Amino acid sequence: MNPYTRDDLITFLSSQGNDYEQLKQRALEVKKSEIGNKVFLRGLIEYSNICRKNCLYCGVRKGNKNILRYELTDDEVYQCADLAMKLGYGSLAIQSGERNDSKFTDKITELVYQTKKRSNNTLGITLSCGEQSEEVYRQWFDAGAHRYLLRIETSNEELYYKIHPQDATHDFQTRINALQTLINLGYQTGTGVMIGLPFQTIEHLADDLLFFQNLNVAMVGMGPFIAHQDTPLWQYHTLIPDIETRMQLTLKMIATLRLLMPKINMVAATANQTLYEDGREQAVLAGANIIMPNLTPNQYREQYLIYPDKACVGDKPMQCSFCLKGRMASINHEIIYNQWGDSKAYTEKA
Ligand code: SAH
Ligand code: SF4
Repeated sequence: MNPYTRDDLITFLSSQGNDYEQLKQRALEVKKSEIGNKVFLRGLIEYSNICRKNCLYCGVRKGNKNILRYELTDDEVYQCADLAMKLGYGSLAIQSGERNDSKFTDKITELVYQTKKRSNNTLGITLSCGEQSEEVYRQWFDAGAHRYLLRIETSNEELYYKIHPQDATHDFQTRINALQTLINLGYQTGTGVMIGLPFQTIEHLADDLLFFQNLNVAMVGMGPFIAHQDTPLWQYHTLIPDIETRMQLTLKMIATLRLLMPKINMVAATANQTLYEDGREQAVLAGANIIMPNLTPNQYREQYLIYPDKACVGDKPMQCSFCLKGRMASINHEIIYNQWGDSKAYTEKA
């Protein structure tokens, strides 16, 4: 059934020059014929940077004492939702540091429920709030969240433990189980990896693509790794590929996955724009079809630096909307407003 072998994937991910350009071109053609040259939006709300975990790569990790911790008020979340509607963003993504206390999980339930109600069910909601129990995932689903993004970060267990502390809070199998639970509950489930991690090989990345395919996920969000000085993984920053190589590797991953899974939703991650000013456009031209413009109130964005030099931290949402429109028009892509933009990989299966 699989038209591509692991070796094919490795060849794609190793391509250079003309072969590399052709790979991206093929992926763009596949995207155009399966989905069209369209882009859907998810207005991003960075709800809180309070996190119980200590992932070795992330600036929001519990052990980082150099940031002020925040949580948006209910009103701030609702204002973001209103702004999303005003700007025609059909969908919201609520992302947060991971917490599993009921004060947090019940709050998310309430925010999802009230946002759905407030928007008269017009806004779609994606959650990205880490690993939770089946009960909590169900509670959030019942409140109205219908998509969930939980990156596996790397599908290679050995590499996973090089970028996470080896303890019960950072358990590889628990993360895989969480993904399976989300799928079983009926979420449109997304996962993804970071690209250009220290110790990561082309073979790891090829296996990541096969992992997405085996899990048959509806969405993938993957982007370049960007080393953060206030994290333990910084000590290996000289081992990561340079900016150009990391960007190319990211584009190769996107293009190859578009060939492998033609109908899925794939994010052009903001991290691409940290590497290159037009990084998101490059990702869209390599096969991505989702962009997540930031709606977080500006005063909090500086504190949600999961990686440094994040793009658009100073931009106002209005500017952002205007800027995106121009950027997509410049590459002959149309932004689709006021639609949820569900993954065809999911809707055609249902
Ligand atoms: N706490 C949730 C969601 C917020 S973190 C979770 O971990 O699932 C969202 C994503 O940011 C992570 O999945 C990770 O892939 C990405 N991220 C964290 N640190 C990063 C870094 N230094 N460079 C690039 N991406 C990073
Ligand atoms: Fe917390 Fe997510 Fe960052 Fe890990 S990646 S430290 S869970 S915010």
